Amino acid sequence: MGGFYICPAVCLAVTLLLAVIIPSQADEPDWVDYQNLSLDILSHLIRFDTTNPPGNELPLMKYLSRRLKKEGVHCEIFKSDLNRANLIARCKGDGSQGAFMIAAHADVVSVEGQKWNYPPFEAVIDDGYIYGRGAMDDKGMLALGAAVLIMLKREKIPLSGDVILLVTADEEAGGGKGIQWMLRRHPDKLKADFALNEGGRIYMNSDTVQYAGIATNEKVTYNARLTASGHPGHSSVPNEYNAVYRLAGALKALEEAEMPGHLIPPAREFFAGLAPFEPNIRYDPVRDEVTTSIRRYNAMTKDTFIPTMLQASVKNNILPEKAEAVINCRLLPDSDPEVFFQYLREIINEDSILQLDYIRRREPQMPTSPTTSDLYLAIRETVSRFWPNALCLPSISTGSTDSGKLRKAGIPTYGLLPFPLSSEDSGRMHGPDERLKIEDYYTGLRFLYQLTIEIAAASEKE
Ligand SMILES: [Zn+2]
Repeated sequence: MGGFYICPAVCLAVTLLLAVIIPSQADEPDWVDYQNLSLDILSHLIRFDTTNPPGNELPLMKYLSRRLKKEGVHCEIFKSDLNRANLIARCKGDGSQGAFMIAAHADVVSVEGQKWNYPPFEAVIDDGYIYGRGAMDDKGMLALGAAVLIMLKREKIPLSGDVILLVTADEEAGGGKGIQWMLRRHPDKLKADFALNEGGRIYMNSDTVQYAGIATNEKVTYNARLTASGHPGHSSVPNEYNAVYRLAGALKALEEAEMPGHLIPPAREFFAGLAPFEPNIRYDPVRDEVTTSIRRYNAMTKDTFIPTMLQASVKNNILPEKAEAVINCRLLPDSDPEVFFQYLREIINEDSILQLDYIRRREPQMPTSPTTSDLYLAIRETVSRFWPNALCLPSISTGSTDSGKLRKAGIPTYGLLPFPLSSEDSGRMHGPDERLKIEDYYTGLRFLYQLTIEIAAASEKE
């Protein structure tokens, strides 16, 4: 009498559904809590002015160490100079799998001469964004790495391999007091089977993730000095041997020069994969050539050079004996610097009054990290879980990072900032009003946590 009839099939379906949903909900971390925690860490990190030079990373490292130790995470600080330091934090695994390292740098580039609408070292939050120098490069990833280690501890995740957070100093100035110093002085502490670092992008196009470009190699930086000589004297009596005009002529020749391109394997795979979906990229497999009007893609296909600094007379009424420009050059990892600079010398018509010098570094060629490693496959798996329609492609970083040194030390290293970035925000890196969308930062937390579970959690293996 009364009541109502429930079909047994529906009943079974509901029970099965609950069985699927309830345990996973019970396992789910309290994301709101962890999001707040990660944002709090990032805000603190931005407030340490770690402009390099001079860097002064030590206070930040001390803060981070205190915070991690409070959670039971093992943490060591390695002082590399006065007020400069690197840090290694570790969650131990049972050793049945390789160690996974998350790397990030704590120093930032200067804000000098830039017009900021927000104070660069106060971590101001406005309209869903957190503003500050380093928000993207690289304190965002650093804070997420720290938050993930705290999560592993609080959630009591059994690990098969160690999860290591490496925080370096001095990345923006080549790593002499950072990654290079660590590799020289404490190579045993850096033992890892693979590493994740900055360098690649989860790229968003009109609010949709279009692709994850995982950097498996990167370009190499060289700085050259272009010097023009002139006749000194009083500026009230101009002569035709002016060093500044001569320098300007050489710079103009450089501006008009065309650099031939060539593709290295990860760039080839990147363009071949992206071209069918991106009208601005044309990839010709027969000629092995890429044509694109997008600057950041163009820079992946060739060696580049651009003047960044100028110097001439010390006074407005003295004719300079010399005028100098620094030419910042970014070479593909398989390019020969001798051949490249010979090409530049021909462009400027080098002679006794116009000379080009660069600091020669005899370094072995940087190896490309394989796309067959457990970490690469785990990144691909995690990307497809988060953004099923996005492409996942190997790529090459146009900037040089600590990854190059890790790869040379034998650690396959992959560049990928874990949060989605639009090209508008990405373009603010090293520029004014650097910012990170908080919602995307939180996605980055989930992504990095999920990836870490995928690669290092004992229960996920078998
Ligand atoms: Zn960076």
